[in-house]
Amino acid sequence: MASTYDLVVDVDSVEQPEDTTHDVLFKIGVVADIQYADVEDATSFHGVPRFYRNSLIGLRRALSAFEAEGVALTLDLGDAVDAKQKAAAHAGFDAVLGCFESRPFPSYHLVGNHDLYNLPRPELNKRLGIAPAGPYGSSYYSLVPHPSTRILVLDSYELSLLDAAQGPDHPLRIRADQIMAVNPNSNKHSPDGLVGEQRRFVEFGGGVGEGQLEWLRAELEAAKAAGQRVIVAGHVPFCPGTCPEPCVLWNYEEVLALLEASGVVSATLAGHAHMNGYVLRNGIHHIVMPSILETPPDRDAYATLDVTPSALILRGHDTCMSLILRVAGPTGAPLAQPLPLRTLAPWAEAAVKQRRSGGDCTSKAVEAAAASNAEGAVMALTPMVQA
Ligand SMILES: [Zn+2]
Repeated sequence: MASTYDLVVDVDSVEQPEDTTHDVLFKIGVVADIQYADVEDATSFHGVPRFYRNSLIGLRRALSAFEAEGVALTLDLGDAVDAKQKAAAHAGFDAVLGCFESRPFPSYHLVGNHDLYNLPRPELNKRLGIAPAGPYGSSYYSLVPHPSTRILVLDSYELSLLDAAQGPDHPLRIRADQIMAVNPNSNKHSPDGLVGEQRRFVEFGGGVGEGQLEWLRAELEAAKAAGQRVIVAGHVPFCPGTCPEPCVLWNYEEVLALLEASGVVSATLAGHAHMNGYVLRNGIHHIVMPSILETPPDRDAYATLDVTPSALILRGHDTCMSLILRVAGPTGAPLAQPLPLRTLAPWAEAAVKQRRSGGDCTSKAVEAAAASNAEGAVMALTPMVQA
């Protein structure tokens, strides 16, 4: 298993004829953690500035860029509306969803914890256009935007303490309570007293239930049979090391075991942590996106993911990192040559440190860190996205 912060090295292939930076099958626009609220700006629990009203402006700028770039679809990775909007939740969703309307591409939404602070799940599914899945009306679904690729959108809060529509006897709630029993605090949003990876057992986290795991297994098999590669999206990050411990999915081990065993998953996309994050683990690229909410009004935080036959190219705009990620072909066949892994802690650690100290993680910082890595382990695309 690759250790935390191992990154894929792909610089060599950029110069090779098989490089497919010009052979884009389709593009996905990606935004995370819009967290709009009609309230004054404030700071997070950790002191990071939050620009609640500006998030709509940042979102519109992202969507206009996606339109110009000709994306096939947009993924909104969840937390569309902040908890501070609860008194007028529907007005908040009207404002955010209105930005997605009248665009020439479909937009797909995920349920985040802040969405659940605002509305119970049945209403959220309706508002976000999600067909209720499984026996409990959960919020997972699959898409095939191109014959080569299946996108599996997971419900990170199928197991959760946050769904106001669930009573204490609901089977999913009972399971969530069992998982969260390890948290000793009366305020279960706090990870105090939990150590290391256990710190993920907090109330703003969540997990994937049994039924959804079964669905996931079947979808992965179907993708394999169809010769499709798979991109998995969820609100809560899937892989330790991509984000602070309290932001990792409760039962990430079960989910990653399925993804890794399938041999067809190229990457996961998540939000929730409000920072750039990346880890390569057992052949799967795990990407965590920065938030629009915590991006200053004159800056941007979104990405276009170019899907090519041999790579995923994350074109981060401004404060969002950019990466070229080598993947197996659409048939799911492994690459002929195993990818070399080289440890590249400096840029990832520098980015996290900057973020925690209130600075922003600019693509310049990623570029500088990549440049300082003599092996060229990551290919920053900053000049391309600024052009
Ligand atoms: Zn969240």
